Amino acid sequence: MVATKAPPRSTRRRVRALTRRLERSYGRATRRRIDPLDELMLTILSQNTSDTNRDRAYQALRARFADWEAVRVAPRVELEAAIRPAGLWKQKARVLQETLNALFEEQGELDLSHLADLTDGEIIEYLTGLRGVGVKTAACVLCFSLGRPYMPVDTHVHRVARRLGLIPARATAEQAHELLNRDSSVPPELRFAFHIQLIRHGRAVCRAGRPACNHCVLEDLCPKVGVQTR
Ligand code: SF4
Repeated sequence: MVATKAPPRSTRRRVRALTRRLERSYGRATRRRIDPLDELMLTILSQNTSDTNRDRAYQALRARFADWEAVRVAPRVELEAAIRPAGLWKQKARVLQETLNALFEEQGELDLSHLADLTDGEIIEYLTGLRGVGVKTAACVLCFSLGRPYMPVDTHVHRVARRLGLIPARATAEQAHELLNRDSSVPPELRFAFHIQLIRHGRAVCRAGRPACNHCVLEDLCPKVGVQTR
């Protein structure tokens, strides 16, 4: 069991400095705002693929089917063909339809606009109660669609935050969500930007295999937790 004690107060200052440094390198992050159900479907397509392939699959899906009800009842093979650019199309087609079916059974319609009236915790609880929806996907709906100050933790954010010492080295993704979204950790107004910048940095420099620490703009701010240095 990994302790989830509150991060020290200095963490907020560090996060501000890290965000400034990353923004100078990668540019400021811009936020997309789409309907919550659209965002939920887009996030399911985004698992283990690039943003470009995710967007190609999403556009093909919207062009092929009139609305989400048409996706829900579509023959599985047609749905798989439409989202092929996203990869893992069999698994993703199944999750898309399972999620839409769960929502339909729950509400009798395909609409998530009522989420705007709920608290962050209530939204996470509601969405993760739908089959196929995990905490990261729910956090993306909160952050991107509803504009809430909530930081999704994907594989890049998780890895880079660990190496930077912002979370314990053995923290799980669920614990990372909880820790990084505390007010004593990432300041609420920076959660969206910091999420985007850590993903950019995780893809470009602080990669899973061998991070390029010698070329990293955060080198002097990073304890390199768990990184082999010679
Ligand atoms: S110094 Fe190395 S471990 Fe730290 S953020 Fe940069 S690439 Fe990652």
